[in-house]
Amino acid sequence: MSVSLSVSLSLCLSVFLSVSDLLLSDEVSDTTSDLMLAKMLQMQFDREFDDQLRREEKKFNGDSKVSISFENYRMVHPYEDSDSSEDEVDWQDTRHDPYRADKPQTTPRKGFTGKGKNITTKHDEVTCGRKNTARMDNFAPEVLVGDGLGMDLKLSNQVFNSLKQHCYSEQRRSARLHEKKEHSTAEQAVDPRTRLLMYKMVNAGVLEHINGCISTGKESVVFHADGGSLEEQPVPDEVVLKVFKTTLNEFKNRDRYIKDDYRFKDRFSKLNPRKVIRLWAEKEMHNLTRMKKAEIPCPEVVLLKKHILVMSFIGKDHVPAPKLKDVKLGSEDMKNAFYQVLHLMQLLYQECNLVHADLSEYNMLWHEGKVWLIDVSQSIEPTHPHGLEFLFRDWMSFTVLDVEVGAS
Ligand code: ADP
Ligand code: MG
Repeated sequence: MSVSLSVSLSLCLSVFLSVSDLLLSDEVSDTTSDLMLAKMLQMQFDREFDDQLRREEKKFNGDSKVSISFENYRMVHPYEDSDSSEDEVDWQDTRHDPYRADKPQTTPRKGFTGKGKNITTKHDEVTCGRKNTARMDNFAPEVLVGDGLGMDLKLSNQVFNSLKQHCYSEQRRSARLHEKKEHSTAEQAVDPRTRLLMYKMVNAGVLEHINGCISTGKESVVFHADGGSLEEQPVPDEVVLKVFKTTLNEFKNRDRYIKDDYRFKDRFSKLNPRKVIRLWAEKEMHNLTRMKKAEIPCPEVVLLKKHILVMSFIGKDHVPAPKLKDVKLGSEDMKNAFYQVLHLMQLLYQECNLVHADLSEYNMLWHEGKVWLIDVSQSIEPTHPHGLEFLFRDWMSFTVLDVEVGAS
């Protein structure tokens, strides 16, 4: 077959470019993974090859009534018409599987064979049995039917029907289980897509190792990880990954924080809820950057990837700094913390033009004798329609500290 030769150098070049585009557009770091790059390149090449083969086949057969199929010369990947993929492509499309064994031919089309006395109809026991065996091939892929197809097995109608019934109920049960499983992983915010993103970060060397979960809240799951390296910036030795939950229910209640924020207003209405979650992560990133500029003690942003925000770890040797809620402070430190929080609110308002909007002892950490602000995804500008309401609320929860300071 000279087909492979006809895949010209320019084609190879364009393949390479399109693959690198694909990688560079969204997953910049992926280019560092030689294996992934090679696999994608090969995949793209195979698809181009199949494409070319199709064209050759068409040209070869022309309008001829008898056509010759080039199917067996195709690469392993079945031919795909579209490049439709949002994030990951399901490469395992098996619409036409050239390697699938042919089903045994059971009854001829006309419904009977033979002549006169020797006529055999489609109701014949043996024929029916073979037909039933062949129909087992239509069971769901996860049902293991053995190799009865190849050994001239004859299934009676009764046996076949109860097998079919069992298969259907199994399928329904498995669907229910699967649903539950998917849901529960989504509850932990590490659904398969998220896991893949996290894996890619490790694979790209941004992270050395993901160690474990620090906290699972209503809206996010926070992981501790050892930092790796990024080209443009240093990555701290210890980082956290804040994974915003991809379950949507919590975010529905909170969209007023972002819907009325003029920074995100235009984009909000056009997005589906899944993409809105990414906005939360983005919002936290922007707010943290502003805060860092104003020298407010807070985590430093390392990287944002969809709904995963990587930032510096507040704590030491895998031990996160305690929340103000949990830390036992002496009266001096307590007073200190009080005035620090007061100052932080002021800085946040005046320098960053922000209202925290969820300021509480749960969202402040005590580290190296300082109060650190975290969890600012919902922070908004004072001009936000609810800005002053949230500021007042912050103030109220802050005065809880005031009472404690007064009491000590
Ligand atoms: P949520 O929106 O789920 O409340 P937070 O940002 O408040 O998310 O994080 C949840 C918990 O994870 C915090 O209470 C804190 O203990 C821990 N945490 C979050 N960010 C950091 C960080 N940068 N360093 C150390 N611990 C962190
Ligand atoms: Mg919080």
